[in-house]
Amino acid sequence: MSNASTTPVTIMRQHLIDPEICIRCNTCEETCPVDAISHDSRNYVVDAAKCNYCYDCISPCPTGAIDSWRNMRADLAYPIAEQLLWDTLPAQVALDEGAGVGAGDTAPALPDDVAKIAAAATSGQGGIAPPPWSAAHPYVNLYSIQKPAVATVSGNFRLTAEDASSDIRHIVLDFGNASFPVLEGQTIGILAPGLDAAGRPHHVRLYSVASPRDGERPHYNNLSLTVKRVTADHEGAAVRGVASNFLCDLKKGDQVNVVGPYGTSFLMPNHPGSNLLMICTGTGSAPMRAMTERRRRKSVPTEDGKLMLFFGARTPAELPYFGPLTRLPKDFIDINLAFSRVPDQPRQYVQDLIRARADEVVRLLQDENTYLYLCGLKGMEQGVDAAISEVCGSHGLDWKTLQAALLQQGRYHVETY
Ligand SMILES: Cc1cc2nc3c(=O)[nH]c(=O)nc-3n(C[C@H](O)[C@H](O)[C@H](O)COP(=O)(O)OP(=O)(O)OC[C@H]3O[C@@H](n4cnc5c(N)ncnc54)[C@H](O)[C@@H]3O)c2cc1C
Ligand code: SF4
Ligand code: SF4
Repeated sequence: MSNASTTPVTIMRQHLIDPEICIRCNTCEETCPVDAISHDSRNYVVDAAKCNYCYDCISPCPTGAIDSWRNMRADLAYPIAEQLLWDTLPAQVALDEGAGVGAGDTAPALPDDVAKIAAAATSGQGGIAPPPWSAAHPYVNLYSIQKPAVATVSGNFRLTAEDASSDIRHIVLDFGNASFPVLEGQTIGILAPGLDAAGRPHHVRLYSVASPRDGERPHYNNLSLTVKRVTADHEGAAVRGVASNFLCDLKKGDQVNVVGPYGTSFLMPNHPGSNLLMICTGTGSAPMRAMTERRRRKSVPTEDGKLMLFFGARTPAELPYFGPLTRLPKDFIDINLAFSRVPDQPRQYVQDLIRARADEVVRLLQDENTYLYLCGLKGMEQGVDAAISEVCGSHGLDWKTLQAALLQQGRYHVETY
């Protein structure tokens, strides 16, 4: 690694993936806007020539494997072919004096633009948002692909009406004697049996936990999921989603290989007086159900601040947990349901209801005890952001400034897929 030449050498912060903890779930590859991430049957890797440090992949990565960096001379950056062979990440190499930096493991001065991006990431503009300050400690990566936990199905119930166009299910998994601690907002990984078209084991699919930390049935070492059977891709073409169909077809007593748990950021606050502002569509309701149920089961719920929910679906028959939700007391949770395909009624989306409840939304957003959660299909993010920006604007608030502060304070959490 010596640099005898007098030609100045560019130092880069090379973005890498830790092969030891990566679960090959493909989330980062789907997320990267410039196709810098690729994989073979062994590893997921980042192309140094393409990565522009946008940090879009960092937060969705369930394991943190993507948040790996090495300070490198740009001309010696690890090529993809080499990364594909790794079993572990190489140690930080010493950068010699000729490169304008000290030797050893210490970080060199970063080029200006990279330093700015890194600062933005750690200040909450990207990267992994901190959890609420009062969140409980989450356990992650307890079970790996090599050593998954084996859960037994103890229930599988259809949540949507029989004639509804979507089949969304409430699936209960029992972990028997295995310790599988989860918090509301965390996800687990499911290993569907069989091989993909290339003859490789299916990659891990992630599902949000829909039950509170003490279990679907309290103290029975179980948890629940809210799973939508995927029968069409995002463009509407017919397809049979591998893991969702596997899960939706499970019968009581069947066994499932589970990895995880994952998630250190999308967690709920635990201090009295904290408000939850929850916005979701479809199966994005899973973490909201977990958090709501946690609050409902606590002995003194009135100490716990306000719960406000915006929930969108095509029709009431397609809204998971519609019945139980509408039976919750109004002084416990402020529920706002938006339906976009009810015959003879105007189409309504969650963003319309956010606008209609502008005063309360803004009041909550200005309260330092409010934590905002957004979960559902990727398409919802833009519309919700625009609606919040509008209601803030109408009350003299700049949403971008507020959003940056919320992110930094662990009060703004988004999980879309
Ligand atoms: C953090 C996180 C949390 C998640 N939580 C949940 C959850 O609680 N419940 C849940 O049901 N899913 C959840 N998902 C999505 C889930 O991981 C799978 O992506 C989804 O079930 C499809 O997997 P599949 O194997 O059935 O489909 P695949 O075989 O992977 O995909 C088949 C095709 O369908 C498309 N597709 C994938 N997902 C969808 C979708 N949701 N709608 C339409 N088309 C799709 C794919 O692009 C592909 O073309 C979550 C994803 C992430 C990243
Ligand atoms: S930081 Fe951005 S460009 Fe780089 S790999 Fe991640 S998503 Fe792709
Ligand atoms: S675990 Fe993280 S790094 Fe590995 S494939 Fe999934 S998102 Fe990418």
